[in-house]
Amino acid sequence: MLTRIYLITIFLLFSSSTQANDLVDTNSGPNDVAETCIKIAEKLASVKLSECNKRNLQGSGYFSSSRQPLLIKEYPPLTKKQIPQARILMLGGIHGDEYSSITIMFKWMQILDKHHSGLFHWKIAPLVNPDGLLQKKSQRMNANGVDLNRNFPNEGNQKASLNYWKKRNYSDPRRYPGKKPLSELETQWIVHLIKDFQPDAIVAVHAPYGIVDFDGPPKPPSHLGSLHLKLLGTYPGSLGNYAGLQQHIPVVTVELPYAGIMPSKKEVSRIWVDLIRWLKKNVPQKLELVQSENPEGIKENANERKQR
Ligand SMILES: [Zn+2]
Repeated sequence: MLTRIYLITIFLLFSSSTQANDLVDTNSGPNDVAETCIKIAEKLASVKLSECNKRNLQGSGYFSSSRQPLLIKEYPPLTKKQIPQARILMLGGIHGDEYSSITIMFKWMQILDKHHSGLFHWKIAPLVNPDGLLQKKSQRMNANGVDLNRNFPNEGNQKASLNYWKKRNYSDPRRYPGKKPLSELETQWIVHLIKDFQPDAIVAVHAPYGIVDFDGPPKPPSHLGSLHLKLLGTYPGSLGNYAGLQQHIPVVTVELPYAGIMPSKKEVSRIWVDLIRWLKKNVPQKLELVQSENPEGIKENANERKQR
């Protein structure tokens, strides 16, 4: 009898530790990152393997449903003296078939690698949904067929996303919100990041609507590069609804014009410069402007601005 109880205890201990490890695994090492870079470079025509390796992404300790590491890059405060104006969380590839939303993260990280001034404290997750991207035919949803941008919590209404999906999306499988909010490891990771990092603003990149969308306070950007503001409204379970409306964190959604074609190099940099300008002026709210010599790669070019 005692042996039986002992064995059951061992089993329970083992199974509970396995469950915890599903979400957090501190063993994610550089090899995981290197392997993911190989897969990303094979998939994305505009991200070379050397470029991905150079960005020096880190394992977050969290994994996707198919055990792919969820990668992050942090640009922390540079000195103890200079407190950053704000913390910014930036997310790409929430939908695995929106290639440009991932590629542009690598281009912007390249700018930050060169110009990070300490004005903002950044955390960048360039590929939130690796299972969606890194398979033979990339897909919007994750490995469980869940649209991660419908899987975020709904304050007080667990069924809102499923009801909306059935009634308004006619049960479109590409917009399936999952059995319940936060059922997916990738969404759990982002919610953990938001709670842990407490960003003052979130920038999420998607494609292919060619606009800027916005949820939450304060005044939205009127345009970023050639992308103009168009408020599309939110859906239950979306990041904009969760972070913007429920948590009152400004969420800027950059919708690039094409999922499979990158904007020009100039446009990539214009969107970035306009974004930094808007962040400087508006985030966090009611803060006096902080002056910096060359914040995050902004180069004033009067001629270029006139021609726009
Ligand atoms: Zn999307």
